[in-house]
Amino acid sequence: MADQPKANDSPVHTGSVAMCNVCRGTDLTEFVDYRRFRRVASDCRPWPAGGHVQVCQHCGCVLKLTDATFLADIAKIYSSYEIYHQSNGMEQAVFEQASGTGASRSNRMLTELQARHPLPTSGRMLDIGCGNGVMLRAFNKISPQWKLAGAELNERYRPIVEAIPMVERLYSCPPPEIPGQFNIITMVHSLEHIIGPIDFLKTVRGRLAPGGLLMVQVPNLPANPFEIVVADHTSHFTLSSLRGLIEQAGYEILHISDAWVHKELSVIAHVTDRQAAPVAAAPAEVEKSTRIVRENLRWLGETVAAAKATMRQGKAGLFGTSIAATWLAAELEGLGDFFVDEDPSRPGKPFMMRQILAPAQVPQGSRVFVGLPPKVANAICRRLTRRGVEYVAPPSLD
Ligand SMILES: [Zn+2]
Repeated sequence: MADQPKANDSPVHTGSVAMCNVCRGTDLTEFVDYRRFRRVASDCRPWPAGGHVQVCQHCGCVLKLTDATFLADIAKIYSSYEIYHQSNGMEQAVFEQASGTGASRSNRMLTELQARHPLPTSGRMLDIGCGNGVMLRAFNKISPQWKLAGAELNERYRPIVEAIPMVERLYSCPPPEIPGQFNIITMVHSLEHIIGPIDFLKTVRGRLAPGGLLMVQVPNLPANPFEIVVADHTSHFTLSSLRGLIEQAGYEILHISDAWVHKELSVIAHVTDRQAAPVAAAPAEVEKSTRIVRENLRWLGETVAAAKATMRQGKAGLFGTSIAATWLAAELEGLGDFFVDEDPSRPGKPFMMRQILAPAQVPQGSRVFVGLPPKVANAICRRLTRRGVEYVAPPSLD
């Protein structure tokens, strides 16, 4: 692990003047223990330790301190993203793998939408934070006559996005400057990146046509301990904080679920003229969020220790090459001989100074540490362990 300013799993007050994303309260408590961990960028690059995770003592919202250091960090992450993915084939594979995940996520979400709000034959749809157009492509498949648009501050995927059938164009301006209105606006894995999310969502209201629907999907903090170490996520949502944020921005929630997509929170909402009541003090939510973050940090520490122990027992590697494995590999500080990936496009390529192997290529007598949330990890271990190759699960998360 990186520098340890203080071995302490208790949150401490920092006296920061930062503001809660949901209730705009300023009584925020920091988890100092977070500072000892390295981080990972959301495009699967290891990122140095730093960053401050806080819990709002009024409503329980978990958020990063968006100070000058944080702003510099995310500017660096977003500006180098393009170089990273264009530099060679290895990074291109990361990109394709990510879009594969995104495609299944988008499809699941659209299925849930269709089941509750059957879409008319035609309409206009906008995807905010459209990236390379995964959601737009999925939407075009189910509703081929809808006119589509993407919004993305970065221009790098413009040709890819604008080549998707029915996409009018990609807008790189803020939402209020996008012309016209839309019947559906989606935000898949973008709200958690946005600084000042309530004000942002308020600006989106004017882009929804009467009766239009907003569909949001963000990572579910309680379901994924690795969520907290993603350097460029500013909000870490629970069902309660996501609900609070969307209501405060002037929407009425029609559906909210942590079950539509594994490890994700999903919302369907529409604009309401009713003013949301101020966020009430929620000591139970504060207690719950505090417990979740503390438990997740404890588990991450134990998982690093368990992975190191596995690597020291002989020839050993890490399972996966995504967010969790990237983070864990950096924390292993050089330990570990290889990565194992079931995605057929990955084996044979180098990743973080090690080779990526297919499960069948893992040498006899070696171990593979599966650094994923325990439920997922246990299933992988049961499925892949074979004679002479042991798959090792992380500690339990109870
Ligand atoms: Zn708050």
